[in-house]
Amino acid sequence: MNFFLETLKFIVLFVYYLLESLVFLVVPGRKKNVSGDIVLVTGAGSGIGRLLAVKFARLGATVVVWDINQEGLNCTVRLARENGAGRVHSYVCDCSKRQDVYRVADQVKKEVGDVSILINNAGIVIGKRFLDSPDSLVEKTMEVNTMAHFWTYKAFLPAMIATNHGHLVSIASSAGLCGANQLSDYCASKFAAVGFAESIDMEMRGLRKTGVKTTIVCPYVINTGMFDGVKTKWPHVLPMLDPEYVAERIINAVRQNQEMLFIPRILYVLYFLKSFLPVKATVLLIEYIGALDVMNTFKGRPKKE
Ligand code: NAD
Repeated sequence: MNFFLETLKFIVLFVYYLLESLVFLVVPGRKKNVSGDIVLVTGAGSGIGRLLAVKFARLGATVVVWDINQEGLNCTVRLARENGAGRVHSYVCDCSKRQDVYRVADQVKKEVGDVSILINNAGIVIGKRFLDSPDSLVEKTMEVNTMAHFWTYKAFLPAMIATNHGHLVSIASSAGLCGANQLSDYCASKFAAVGFAESIDMEMRGLRKTGVKTTIVCPYVINTGMFDGVKTKWPHVLPMLDPEYVAERIINAVRQNQEMLFIPRILYVLYFLKSFLPVKATVLLIEYIGALDVMNTFKGRPKKE
């Protein structure tokens, strides 16, 4: 194709995609049916993972739940069944261990089938200053929040590519978009998770496997207990998020094949400003909205949980 034709095609499609996204802001897109899908949720023994599992089960999907916490899994399975789920399969899996992920993934493929919606949700946080963070926990954060995504993709992506059908969902964080005080390893793990998911999305597009979708989720602090103790300075500007609301937004984003989901919406504005503002102005803004010191009161989950 010559330069003129290719440029013309680019401009037409560029404008079309901009208009399309504006229309979808006003008129929500059609939601896909997931009743024929096998949905795997990691870290489904509590919080957002549990809510996603229950909601997908309610939509008629076959649900596979993974966690290291057997008790948490039992509770999720019971809730899913109470909500009308016919097919829920639970497996204890330590996502921080590559061999465990591969072993349990093989078991799932044999006993349930090929996973078509993979939700990498398992996550941990230390919440200490960098020099106070034990090496072993820093490594664990990277293994659970990032490396596990590599191994689950390795296990389940081939079947999605073969059928050109699937959905890869990465539960990252607003900490994957902007560095944060007392969250160095967590931010690093979430930035990496975002970069990894975005790169595989590009790879699928390059391979013309456009039936394999990606959704990257970046929420601010959610009231699940993971960030217990954290307070927000101005809740009307940057609210603590309700887990039900977050899970519902994630389900809608997946069903509408939305690539990036920031919650709350003000994060889109903050992320845009960060891309061009001078660093001092960005820090001033972060301080103004209270995000710089947000971890000062962090307690996290009590150990026994
Ligand atoms: P949560 O602590 O309620 O749930 C995390 C789950 O992951 C737990 O059930 C835990 O047992 C499981 N898990 C931990 N290590 C595991 C391992 N090695 N293998 C398997 N499972 C493991 O937390 P949540 O708030 O529901 O968080 C869910 C996801 O959302 C996480 O990835 C988190 O980083 C992300 N996120 C949370 C918040 C928040 O404020 N809670 C904000 C942004 C993003």
